[in-house]
Amino acid sequence: MKIIIVGSGSAGLMTALMLNNNIPDVEILIIRSKFKKIIGVGESTVGTFNTMLVDLLGMDKNDFIINVKPVTKYGISFEFGKDEFHYTFDTVFDYEFYNEKLPIGFKFNGGNYGNSEFSTNMINNSNAYKYNSGGYHIDNGLFIDYLEKICQKRGIKFINDDIISVEREGDNIVSLNEKYVSDYFIDCSGFKPLLSKSKFYSYEDVLVNDRALFFRTKTTDTLKPYTQATTMNCGWLWRIDHSTGFSGNGYVYSSKYITDEEAKKEVEQKLKIKLEDSRIIPFKTGRLEKHWVGNVITVGNSDGFVEPLEATSLMTILQLSKDFSQIIKYGDNKGDLINRYNDFTNIYYDNIRDFILLHFCFNKRKDTKYWSDYRKRVNKLNRDSQTYEILDHYLNNDVHIKYLSQINELSNPFGYEGYFSILRGLIPTDDDRKELLTILNDNI
Ligand SMILES: Cc1cc2nc3c(=O)[nH]c(=O)nc-3n(C[C@H](O)[C@H](O)[C@H](O)COP(=O)(O)OP(=O)(O)OC[C@H]3O[C@@H](n4cnc5c(N)ncnc54)[C@H](O)[C@@H]3O)c2cc1C
Repeated sequence: MKIIIVGSGSAGLMTALMLNNNIPDVEILIIRSKFKKIIGVGESTVGTFNTMLVDLLGMDKNDFIINVKPVTKYGISFEFGKDEFHYTFDTVFDYEFYNEKLPIGFKFNGGNYGNSEFSTNMINNSNAYKYNSGGYHIDNGLFIDYLEKICQKRGIKFINDDIISVEREGDNIVSLNEKYVSDYFIDCSGFKPLLSKSKFYSYEDVLVNDRALFFRTKTTDTLKPYTQATTMNCGWLWRIDHSTGFSGNGYVYSSKYITDEEAKKEVEQKLKIKLEDSRIIPFKTGRLEKHWVGNVITVGNSDGFVEPLEATSLMTILQLSKDFSQIIKYGDNKGDLINRYNDFTNIYYDNIRDFILLHFCFNKRKDTKYWSDYRKRVNKLNRDSQTYEILDHYLNNDVHIKYLSQINELSNPFGYEGYFSILRGLIPTDDDRKELLTILNDNI
């Protein structure tokens, strides 16, 4: 079997390794443009990323660490609500649920993470290189170089060429540039998908951010083993520390509320710096309606992008490429699994969108139009969604949210633990809950 992948950003390279790991005798060719660069961001990961690299891509963890030099990420420090709070990758609320007497109410202010090793490391800026737990901060350039090296070691072939023509028969692609033929074609070509003809389902009415101002700063203080996410006037700012002496920063904002120049000025004023070397990264939030049609599968930014908040893209690439490589491996004569793959993928992306929406709707900033508009945008939450069910339960009850898991399966990458951490952080007190319940009832 032969598979052609178009694009060698992190989506193309990780998909190649996933296919190679799952279907060892498959012949893989990566075609990448001589001119078009990769997007070059994608530096923060979820907590399960390091085990995914080993378990799903068959990587050697030590070799990865030596070459990519990541910083351990224990979670996200949110300056996003009333108080700063930590969303750690430690399952602290799960421990609480299982170890203490039930029911455990969530009536506490701010949250007590005293029993969380991850939070202690975050507070003390310690163990930035303790790689056996947590996620990673990775330098995108080092990561791409390393992925390429591993691909080459495993016999995956590369060609530098621009795809300028796509020859089709019905839903199937027959060839690219009239010469590249294959059984499957994987589209990893970035925000403007080259091969897929599927319609785009936009999230822009729900998640309004569409640009990021990316810049690097020198890391002068101790490395922070966590991502910082801070609200700005019309969006939020990330800071991700790297072991190579700099931090990656990005102001993610909506062009409906602020111009590029104003965004730059706001950053300069807030951080008291002059931005000499920054770049604007435009993006669109949403997903394709179908991710696998005929012999064409889309992965990475060409397939869908939710928001940089929560750093979910690399995880999504791994999760979805794992699923479709299994289907390719075992076959799907009736096309039923492909339909299921398309449905599951839609739910997967939509769940991430809804989870992220909570972060924007329920923090306490009301001082700009951007934030007051976001509060009302809670009406974008569908009553049938898992996120609505969890939120409704959290606002109305005084038992641990984990109880829901006794009744329901959660097909959602964040789990009850993730929801509970965010909701406790954003909505810590009974008074907050009452206020937000009113907003929820008024808007949905
Ligand atoms: C502001 C921002 C912040 C982000 N932060 C994070 C984060 O912290 N964590 C995270 O997990 N994700 C993050 N992401 C997402 C991350 O960028 C992507 O998941 C990841 O880099 C995958 O990109 P890609 O490979 O799909 O596309 P790209 O990197 O754009 O690669 C596209 C490839 O297609 C090739 N190509 C394009 N056209 C042609 C052609 N005609 N012929 C041949 N080849 C072609 C290009 O040469 C390139 O190799 C962020 C995204 C944005 C916009």
